Amino acid sequence: MEYQRISEIMGLDAQDQKVGVRGWVRTFRANRFIALNDGSTQSNLQCVVDFEQMDESILKKINTGTALALEGKLVPSQGKGQSLEIQVESLEVLGESDPESYPIQPKKHSLEFLREKAHLRVRTATFSAIMRIRSVLSFAVHEFFQTKGFVYVNTPIITGSDAEGAGEMFRVSNLDPKNPPLDDDGNIDYKQDFFGKETHLTVSGQLEAETFAMGLGNVYTFGPTFRAENSNTTRHLAEFWMIEPEMAFYQLEDNMDLAEEFIRYVLKKVLDNCSEDLQILDKRLADEDKTKPQNERSPMGLIEKISFVVNNTFKRVSYTEAIDILRQSKPNKKKKFQFPIDAWGADLQSEHERYLVEKHFECPVILYDYPAEIKAFYMRMNPDGKTVRAMDILFPGIGEIVGGSQREERLEVLQERMQAMDVDPEELWWYLDLRRFGSAPHSGFGLGFERLVLFATGMSNIRDVIPFPRTPQNASF
Ligand code: ATP
Ligand code: MN
Repeated sequence: MEYQRISEIMGLDAQDQKVGVRGWVRTFRANRFIALNDGSTQSNLQCVVDFEQMDESILKKINTGTALALEGKLVPSQGKGQSLEIQVESLEVLGESDPESYPIQPKKHSLEFLREKAHLRVRTATFSAIMRIRSVLSFAVHEFFQTKGFVYVNTPIITGSDAEGAGEMFRVSNLDPKNPPLDDDGNIDYKQDFFGKETHLTVSGQLEAETFAMGLGNVYTFGPTFRAENSNTTRHLAEFWMIEPEMAFYQLEDNMDLAEEFIRYVLKKVLDNCSEDLQILDKRLADEDKTKPQNERSPMGLIEKISFVVNNTFKRVSYTEAIDILRQSKPNKKKKFQFPIDAWGADLQSEHERYLVEKHFECPVILYDYPAEIKAFYMRMNPDGKTVRAMDILFPGIGEIVGGSQREERLEVLQERMQAMDVDPEELWWYLDLRRFGSAPHSGFGLGFERLVLFATGMSNIRDVIPFPRTPQNASF
């Protein structure tokens, strides 16, 4: 027998033809109706067994979670809820599932409960939808850049420089933790470590991507990134995936244009390719919203929200304008912000970003030209000597989704900035070389993939959009 995926079968004309299918039982009703799912689509295939014909011992083994292979006739369905069904002629139990102990029952489970069962949660409607959308988004990322002629580069995961992530990096070492070699000052002697120096997991592939942009023109990375920040929020993971395009000869405006086009493109792919999954998640969000107080409910449904972003341009606002808006804002005057805004130069917290996006502009916002003090050393200094060519994209419900900038391509200015910000020029000699040999204006940005998936799925906790989340105190599975 040839087996077909349920997604294929759903597209067939039911004409009593023989089909074979394999999957897992979602529900089994009245000793007769199996709702079978094989992960290829949100839809379950109804498979009708004739319990009078079937061996009692086999019937008993058909429970939620059981893996089955079956074949039968594909016929138009009499019942409502589906247009076709299989009249089962033969059925084989591939793997039993004990109904008493199988955690994924056909009822509503909380997201917290399912996080504890992360190895099984993908068998639910919600999580299979999220993971299929995640996959469509990944493919769309590559498609977008590949059709534009960008080169995909794999930057190192183990890095010898801590220029960017001081304090929030995971160390990579194979020294004996109980008895590490010490130097004369009694400090751990990393010269004797595997790489002959201290090494860490990367927090960003940007600096290496810049070297490639300066030869290949336009490049992008899409890989894992690690941050040991102890911020137990719904938007931070210790291990997440980042997309980092880097473009030679791009100014900040070109960078913003590309980021905007990119986000719209990948979200449109989800609208075009994931409508069944979106409907499930749209409904989930609407149900969740009903349990919230009126003022915390989302003003739009999921599909509406994604369509809004796909069809509208983002609002571009300078940091200075944003600070004025925030200073004058109601929550600031009423001291409702946890971090009140009183002066130019303040770093924006998530509460401020969300106020701008959700309350003030009611659309995605690109903030640009931030104070140099609160941004990284590599961002290009503006003629005012105070602000740098940075841009962050802020999204409703999420806050920052993209952080980017035009890079400082002038050697002397970069050296000054490194000194001012205490970044070791010796360690980044290769990065400075880019400014010595054929330096050119260039720009890039980093987009946190899971934050994009959060937006596209309407989920509210980043732990629910990555297969196995790594967060403080948690690296199970
Ligand atoms: P935030 O202020 O939200 O911590 P950031 O300023 O540290 O973000 P960048 O260093 O600019 O972020 O990283 C680029 C992008 O990577 C961010 O815009 C965000 O989408 C994503 N990102 C950053 N940190 C995390 C994290 N811990 N987990 C998931 N995504 C992250
Ligand atoms: Mn951060």
